[in-house]
Amino acid sequence: MSSSSSLPPQTLKIGIVGFGTFGQFLAKTMIKQGHITRATSRTDYSQLCHQLDVPFFRDVIPFLEAENDVILICTSILSLSEVLNSMPLRRLKRHTLFVDVLSVKEHPRNVLLQVLPENMDVLCTHPMFGPESGKNGWKDLPLVYEKVRVRDETRCSSFLHIFESEGCRMVEMSCEEHDKVAARSQFLSHSIGRILAEMGIESTSMNTKSFETLVKLKESATNDSFDLFSGLFIHNKFAQQELMNLEQSFEKVKQRLLKKMSEQQSLSSV
Ligand code: NAP
Repeated sequence: MSSSSSLPPQTLKIGIVGFGTFGQFLAKTMIKQGHITRATSRTDYSQLCHQLDVPFFRDVIPFLEAENDVILICTSILSLSEVLNSMPLRRLKRHTLFVDVLSVKEHPRNVLLQVLPENMDVLCTHPMFGPESGKNGWKDLPLVYEKVRVRDETRCSSFLHIFESEGCRMVEMSCEEHDKVAARSQFLSHSIGRILAEMGIESTSMNTKSFETLVKLKESATNDSFDLFSGLFIHNKFAQQELMNLEQSFEKVKQRLLKKMSEQQSLSSV
């Protein structure tokens, strides 16, 4: 679905909150496209920001007063409420578009609607890719979004255009629907990857293609922080059911194998 407005996209001033792995990854493409970025974060990223030519604000007040068109929330799922509640949002000088990129969607939607002044626009997004899967470009990678409270359509379209112009597949979907689908896809693949890591699987000299897929799954799951993985579980109301489904399905497969083994053993004992 196209999100373009009829007006040409604007150059945006984008303030990034949370300049960890994913915030930095997004910033690089935004800078490449000519947008003006600045950042604030719990950790001091002054040196890295200096190299990227991104102003870094250790103090959140001048960051909020820096006239951002967009404030892009890239903090961990678990820290979102704490981060937003610690920001003196009354210092905002203009009506701003708040965008989040968290890997769950109902939680940030609810928190943003709760803490933001009514005159701030809200766009919830989830780029379904990261620094590894998006390292060679974003073409055909999905960007899921919901325009939760958007009055300035041109500004919102200009933001979405960042992803459209990189070739992303734009998927407009409610936050609830996102979480339902993501629990059965993204959370499931992270869980299985973590289980494989727990088992300590490693590449062998006789890998099948399927086993190679498992090794990659393990690597991709453990490349993301445990905060991210646990956020997928704690703040997606559909995830707990999927974890139970996984456990029950594991038990069913195991019982079928044990039943077959005991049938074979009784056959061979006659
Ligand atoms: P993450 O571990 O989920 O989040 C790291 C970020 O959260 C850093 O900016 C960190 O700040 C901040 N943070 C963590 N705890 C904090 C606290 N108590 N107070 C203040 N800030 C805190 O790793 P990530 O991969 O960078 O992901 C960032 C967000 O993007 C997450 O919400 C994730 O769901 C989403 N996302 C990630 C990917 C991906 O592939 N990695 C893809 C799509 C969406 P400091 O760095 O300053 O410590």
